[in-house]
Amino acid sequence: MTRIGIIGGGQLGLMIAEQARALGVRCVALDPAPDAPAFAACEGRIVAAYDDAEALERLCRECDAVTYEFENVPGEVLQPLVAKYHIPQGFEPLSDSQDRLREKDNARANGFDTPAYAAVDSEATLRRAVAEIGLPCVLKTRTLGYDGHGQAVLRSEADIERALPLLAVPCILEAFVDFDYEVSLILVSDGERFVSFPIGRNVHRDGILDLSFVPAEGLSPELERRIRATGEAFMRRCGYRGILAVELFVRGDRFFFNEMAPRPHNSGHWTIEGCSTNQFRELVRFLAGMPLEEPRQTAPAVMKNILGRDLDAARRIAAEGHEGVYVHLYGKSESRPRRKMGHITFTGISAAEYAEKWSKYFEDRCCE
Ligand code: AMP
Repeated sequence: MTRIGIIGGGQLGLMIAEQARALGVRCVALDPAPDAPAFAACEGRIVAAYDDAEALERLCRECDAVTYEFENVPGEVLQPLVAKYHIPQGFEPLSDSQDRLREKDNARANGFDTPAYAAVDSEATLRRAVAEIGLPCVLKTRTLGYDGHGQAVLRSEADIERALPLLAVPCILEAFVDFDYEVSLILVSDGERFVSFPIGRNVHRDGILDLSFVPAEGLSPELERRIRATGEAFMRRCGYRGILAVELFVRGDRFFFNEMAPRPHNSGHWTIEGCSTNQFRELVRFLAGMPLEEPRQTAPAVMKNILGRDLDAARRIAAEGHEGVYVHLYGKSESRPRRKMGHITFTGISAAEYAEKWSKYFEDRCCE
């Protein structure tokens, strides 16, 4: 029986392991937290740091194929393992996504448009870049940023002053895109065949994904076709295999690459119930050497992220019981207002129906 190793034991690892089980594939996860969510669905668990070379080696030895659900696995530890073991996605897509400057250079070089950007590492280079790119713009740390952490929108001179502490580490300055909406594209490839999931429209709140709506209202079939084709060509040109999620800004009939991740994506959780196959299952199929399946949307879907502050509402919805409403709670032992604790997929409803019936459940938010 095939065994898959997962570096990282968060909710993505949990859902990879759940889908693996349904395909008769077993999983072993590695995570520093003894109560990591993925352990609940894994046959094996390795409690160790992500840079523990010995523990990672053990994971690779015990498994037929290894993947990662955690983006910041250091290259120094992963690269030697890629040379020795079966880590079919390799280090390349991870490395290309770990630095926002390299990520955008790579996106541009391989067919995507991006917002204007410049590398900045001092007050002088920041001021020069602001003069060139113009206000408003966004300053982001090049590495280790996530969910809106490590970034600041600059709209005025005072904002530039306030943002200077970010320059303690190398940064990138980007033009602020006055987008109509955000979307994400999720692709899976075995190197020959490419499949991609229907594109959802994403709404962020405080820098964290809040909602995904599929189909994406306003996205014409022609634009969706162009985004999928650009994504596929990008993946092909980069030589990436496995899963890739790309976040994009849409303005009119143009789209701009924002960032990518070579792992299942939060905006693709709806595929579990709203699609004929889902992002986790296709990743497992790729890792286990099974032929990929073409995803087909089976119902309109709305995915709502459940942060700590939404947990009571999610429990209430689960307790009430609603047809076509799927509550996923990840079993994290500690809840915080901005921590991702679960998600809910509402199937068979439109964005307007969600706004009317469900958004009120989440309006009563506690202060942070
Ligand atoms: P990121 O961590 O780069 O995905 O940024 C988090 C969110 O901030 C994005 O999903 C956007 O909503 C917003 N954002 C980031 N960069 C830009 C930009 N250049 N222009 C406008 N909004 C942005």
